[in-house]
Amino acid sequence: MSDVTRDDFVVSFKPHTGYDAPLLAMKDATAAGLADKVAAAEATALFATIANADKAFKAAYNLGVTLGATPVQHPNTVQAQQAAPVSAPAGPPPGMTAPTCPHGTKAWKTGGGNGKREWKAWMCPAPKGAPDQCPPEWVK
Ligand SMILES: [Zn+2]
Repeated sequence: MSDVTRDDFVVSFKPHTGYDAPLLAMKDATAAGLADKVAAAEATALFATIANADKAFKAAYNLGVTLGATPVQHPNTVQAQQAAPVSAPAGPPPGMTAPTCPHGTKAWKTGGGNGKREWKAWMCPAPKGAPDQCPPEWVK
């Protein structure tokens, strides 16, 4: 009788009745499952994330409409293109030796700039997202 592929329980959230209100819809096959999802949304502050994203989206949209702003490349992309050729990746500063970890020799990475706080760190060579990847070794 029960069809687990069907989401019979659906709830949608809108912060206000305006046509431009963001809409969050959640579905689940069971009431208990849906209750879990709603609780998870609250626990992870998903509503606040949606509110912030909605605000950012509308601000960017209005900029495009009123000022004629056009999309630009993400600053990180631009920065990468201006960097040294791929064949000669930027190495660590002179006098610094790459530390090692159980995964191998750590890689020198930098980021930030363009108004963002700059950072420098030695990064574990384990694949990104690996559960045993060592935390970044920040350099001041
Ligand atoms: Zn490591």
